[in-house]
Amino acid sequence: MVIKPEPVFNTIEAIGQQTDIRSKKILLTPQGHRFNQTIAKELAREPYLMLICGHYEGFDERIRIGLDTFELSIGDYVLSGGEIPAMVVIDAVVRLIPGVLGDMDSVVNESFSDDLLEHPQYTRPAEYRGMKVPEVLVSGHHQKIKEWQKEHAIKRTREKRPDLIE
Ligand code: SAM
Repeated sequence: MVIKPEPVFNTIEAIGQQTDIRSKKILLTPQGHRFNQTIAKELAREPYLMLICGHYEGFDERIRIGLDTFELSIGDYVLSGGEIPAMVVIDAVVRLIPGVLGDMDSVVNESFSDDLLEHPQYTRPAEYRGMKVPEVLVSGHHQKIKEWQKEHAIKRTREKRPDLIE
């Protein structure tokens, strides 16, 4: 079963008639651009987004041709519908909108924010089952902590995702 063009065109045109909102239209498809943090940042700057989810075999090709959409995939695998991909996109985008998270600094330091994975994270207690928090992190020396975090972000990225370094 393939989603017919009429209901999709009618829905999008009806929304257009009811409001003067100019939304970026995103067509969720495994054939689209691979979603990543850079795209999430770009989408977070859009005033409105319209997410179009497929189901069954997907969309009639004229939906892709006739509507000015940005095709987006959440990865190289096939799900039964676009609802979960839409939720993935919404979550990744919304948390980048200023004011959504309590501390925007956490977004700046996160994995993929500067093409690196995030450095290892620790919290209390200082020692658990013989595993200690690195001494520098409990030293209170902010400059040294920053240097440790940068060094370990690079080390971790090299180990786990060398493609990001390249
Ligand atoms: N026949 C399509 C193909 O081979 O490219 C797959 C259709 S899939 C079973 C049904 C719908 O789920 C798609 O139209 C799309 O909206 C959504 N979907 C499935 N996998 C997806 C992915 N990796 N990224 C984004 N959307 C996906």
